[in-house]
Amino acid sequence: MQLSYRIRMILYNILLFAFAFLIVVFCVFQGTSYFFINQTKDVLLKATQDSTLFISQELKNLHSSESLDNQFIANSLYLSKNISENESHRVLLFDTEGNQIADSVEETSIYNILATELTLSMTENAPVFTLKSINDTSTAYFTSPVVIDNTVIGYIGFTYSMYEMDAFLHVASIFFAIGGLIGLLFLVIVTLSFSRHFFQPIKDLTKISKEINNGNYNLTIYYKHVDEIGDLTHAFNGMVTNINSVILQLESERKRLAGVLASIDDGLLAIDKNGNIITSNSYIKTYFNVSNPKTIYDFQHQSFLRDIFDSLKNGKDHISEEIDCNDRNLLLIGSPIREKGFEENYMIIIRNMTAARHIQEEQRKFISSVSHELRTPLTTIIGYTDMLTRRQVVDQEIITRSLNTINREGHRLLRLVDNLLNVNKFDRAEFDFKKTNLNIVLLLSEVVEQMQIKASQSDIEINYVSDELPEILGDYDRLQQVFINIIHNAIKYSNSGEIIDVISAIEDNHIVVSIRDYGPGISEIEQKRIFNAFYRVEEDRSRNSDEGGSGLGLYIVKQIVEKHDGKIDIVSQVGEGTNIIVTLPILSVLIYGGESDEKRNK
Ligand code: ATP
Ligand code: MG
Repeated sequence: MQLSYRIRMILYNILLFAFAFLIVVFCVFQGTSYFFINQTKDVLLKATQDSTLFISQELKNLHSSESLDNQFIANSLYLSKNISENESHRVLLFDTEGNQIADSVEETSIYNILATELTLSMTENAPVFTLKSINDTSTAYFTSPVVIDNTVIGYIGFTYSMYEMDAFLHVASIFFAIGGLIGLLFLVIVTLSFSRHFFQPIKDLTKISKEINNGNYNLTIYYKHVDEIGDLTHAFNGMVTNINSVILQLESERKRLAGVLASIDDGLLAIDKNGNIITSNSYIKTYFNVSNPKTIYDFQHQSFLRDIFDSLKNGKDHISEEIDCNDRNLLLIGSPIREKGFEENYMIIIRNMTAARHIQEEQRKFISSVSHELRTPLTTIIGYTDMLTRRQVVDQEIITRSLNTINREGHRLLRLVDNLLNVNKFDRAEFDFKKTNLNIVLLLSEVVEQMQIKASQSDIEINYVSDELPEILGDYDRLQQVFINIIHNAIKYSNSGEIIDVISAIEDNHIVVSIRDYGPGISEIEQKRIFNAFYRVEEDRSRNSDEGGSGLGLYIVKQIVEKHDGKIDIVSQVGEGTNIIVTLPILSVLIYGGESDEKRNK
């Protein structure tokens, strides 16, 4: 049975008390007995002296010629009776040989109850005292030589009942028993209440330790006394505070780390040697559709992750591989995490390369398209200049046509370079707008007039209709570029003999310009992409293979329109043509628009 510390302490106290109590009882009883025995010895020695004197006188008074020891034997009964009366003890007399010659109580008894003491007295020639218990009563047995005129004439013996001592010890034992019981009771009560007081802080410590075990660290023990328990509680409180602050620190570190992990743009998996996931971030769910994975084996459909884990476990230091997973291009980078004093763990980083690969693809297309774009006009220009110089052409018509072609191709090159420069500026957010009040009808008329020359070459007619429109605030050159690019596309993608409708009107405080062609149209999927830089639907779709394009026209259009707080929409169906709609706000107009007049007069 396991006893509690408190019960053990109470039992120890009881044991200690009982031990001390028994020592006290023993000493008291021994002391009392010693006192009574000494007193009895004195009394019996005195009785011996008195008796010897009495015997001597009685025998001398007889005036007998017999020896003293014979007279002692002859008168022994008388003497014993008288001595017994005087001393009120039982008196036994013995001759010099040790034979009992008289007993004041039992005259006929032949059994010598003092035989042992008498033998000793005879040997040592001295008084002998012993204490015996007869019928539960302590009795002193005493023998002594009777010496008269320096001669031992016989022996005298007494039996002396020590009932006083017995009575005293009896009463004392009753008192001791009652006192002991009261003492014990008192001891138990005091120990109990003291131990409650003593154990309370220990109980508190235990309770708080359990609470701490359950994760509650905001606890302190209150103990008002300055003593060892006070020191213990103080140290304990300090320890709890320290643990609490360490835990808070760890928690904030953990949160910070979780924040870092969450803000990383890559998926991250940290795995221990047994394949348990130590940490992962939200991209793991995004990429692999596995929530809260506990082990690497939770990725049932992603065997490539398990393969990387196995390779790392087998000692590979760096793994990098690209895979296609759920329409994504993922780069997986695996490496071991080695830290001194810690088991080796592993980390797999999953990087989404889809956009990067897309950009790479776009750039590849761009480079091939730009090279093609640069190459076409340059080949034409070089061809014509070669022809003019080498063949020494004199026909004025051929010379004029050739120069016109060289000029047109030069402009095409210039437009391409301009577009490239603009895109570069847009990307670096450096584009500088010079906004003035401008008349959009005038601007569009100029553009249509300019583009009609080009359209006529393919027998295409541009119709421009407009309401009367208020002035708007905008960059004249840039907005011209917007409509040139759109109409240029419309011409490029129209069949010869078709028409292009340009309409400008006012709607809900906005100027709406629509450029409608009847060309091949653009599918819904392509409509979402054609405003991206370098995007072209098909490399070879344009009607006129001479035209080509770099896929920058509509990107530039969108950037300029948005920088005017406007928007661009597209309504198109494959086979039915395309309608590009530009909406510009007419809210912000300069009050003193001197510059706009300038433009109008251009
Ligand atoms: P660039 O304008 O830089 O010389 P581009 O005309 O090819 O080259 P964008 O003007 O940006 O480039 O047009 C992007 C793509 O949208 C074109 O390649 C074309 O496929 C499609 N597109 C644009 N306008 C029309 C249209 N009116 N009809 C049919 N497709 C069009
Ligand atoms: Mg274009």
